[in-house]
Amino acid sequence: MTTTHDFWLAGRRASGDATFEVHHPFDGSLVGKVSVPTDAQVEEALNAAVAAAPVFAATPAHVRAGALDHVSKRLAERTEEIAQLITAENGKPIKWARGEVGRAVSVFRWAAEEARRTNGETMRLDTDPGGVGRFAVVRKFPRGVVLGIAPFNFPLNLVAHKVAPAIAVGAPIILKPAPSTPLSALVLGEILAETDLPAGSWSVLPVPNEKMPALVQDDRLPVISFTGSDKVGYQIMDSVPRKHVTLELGGNAAAVVLADWSSEADLEWAATRIATFANYQGGQSCISVQRVIADASVYDALVEKVVAKVEAQVTGNPTDDATDVGPLVDENAAKRVEAWVEDAVAKGAKVLTGGTREGAAYAPTVLAELPADAILAGAEAFGPVLSLHKVDSTDEAFAAVNDSKFGLQAGVFTHDLQTAFKAHQVLEVGGVVIGDAPSYRADQMPYGGVKDSGVGREGVKYAMDDFTYERVLVLTGL
Ligand code: NAD
Repeated sequence: MTTTHDFWLAGRRASGDATFEVHHPFDGSLVGKVSVPTDAQVEEALNAAVAAAPVFAATPAHVRAGALDHVSKRLAERTEEIAQLITAENGKPIKWARGEVGRAVSVFRWAAEEARRTNGETMRLDTDPGGVGRFAVVRKFPRGVVLGIAPFNFPLNLVAHKVAPAIAVGAPIILKPAPSTPLSALVLGEILAETDLPAGSWSVLPVPNEKMPALVQDDRLPVISFTGSDKVGYQIMDSVPRKHVTLELGGNAAAVVLADWSSEADLEWAATRIATFANYQGGQSCISVQRVIADASVYDALVEKVVAKVEAQVTGNPTDDATDVGPLVDENAAKRVEAWVEDAVAKGAKVLTGGTREGAAYAPTVLAELPADAILAGAEAFGPVLSLHKVDSTDEAFAAVNDSKFGLQAGVFTHDLQTAFKAHQVLEVGGVVIGDAPSYRADQMPYGGVKDSGVGREGVKYAMDDFTYERVLVLTGL
């Protein structure tokens, strides 16, 4: 019998009067049904969150930190079960799903630690004659109820990046998981329900997309933390110019391999990391390697290794421990990638390996000579497709990285410290990774983009900054 998963309304289990289905991307089997909240239930969750806001803001740090520690511990205990669920709903290989749970464990642990830290600062005001006898206390207060909207590609960890910082600052959160992958977020709800967080301080509501514009515009939700596509993200931002909106959007991340990264061991490492992070999760990560920009002196040797490593990757059933690359999230996603590769080939690109589709699975693909007018030259592939570009200098390589509407992260393979600093100085991205692919992310780092990759930063402490504002207290006559 198929399980119907309840949602979480103001901290308690609830069900609506309709359901939708979640299917396994690999074999299409039914993973579960999910209950959809009615309009009245969404209204109830909003009112409960508003009522909880002052209570939650005043909840002692040790209570919030204790709850976050509990979630971290319980996620760790339930790793295997949750990883299997992530694989079933998302299709990502089980080894990557286990890694995702491990990251969420860290996010909640970091949030617990941050919740215990000092809040704010004192400030001298006697720097001018008018300030003599005064000083200020600056503290951070929650902006209000957070609407967290999550994408499908990390159904647990990107949910964690919204829920954990909200709890850490004492801001109620209404979480809206992605329609294709809501189950891990609902399990997180089970764990949150074991804590003593105030009633109303959190809800997990699988609201259908067509009902989202009304929720986005609701005045009771002053903060929107969105992770997803640039299309939806900017629609949201444009529709609520007065709200505090964080957008974590897409990218077409580049790995730059410079002339000094030339030994056998160097190229072996670069090719391994590039092949792995072009295709892990079927390329459905916002910092998957989409472009390799290599100096002409190392290009041929690098290409040979990258193609060999891509061809050695194990594709297939994501539940097998050995699988490196599973299916995309659904067949439509794979068909889109197929059409974009066909467009590139029609315009002159060469397929060095891959280029085939079977259902929702698209073969890891390496393209050379990608013409500038191909869709894949500018768009986010969000699939297992890598393009290779040859350049004659470091300046040309960095200009190629910046020749993109996106700017999330870049990887630069160099041993040279000056070049590392230069990359940090000139690359228009939110993060530069030296000696590795652009896909490295530690969850405490500030993470986010520039240009069409978004505004604002996640990374526990940085999201906490986003969910709060400074309120100053001026003390006079002291
Ligand atoms: P998406 O934009 O289709 O959906 C994201 C979320 O928005 C989902 O929960 C969806 O249900 C919801 N949504 C859809 N229409 C909406 C509307 N009108 N109003 C409000 N919410 C709405 O994105 P996706 O396909 O789930 O995720 C893939 C995208 O996410 C890629 O572009 C990827 O690069 C990006 N992403 C970015 C980051 C980052 O941190 N920068 C991380 C992961 C994924």
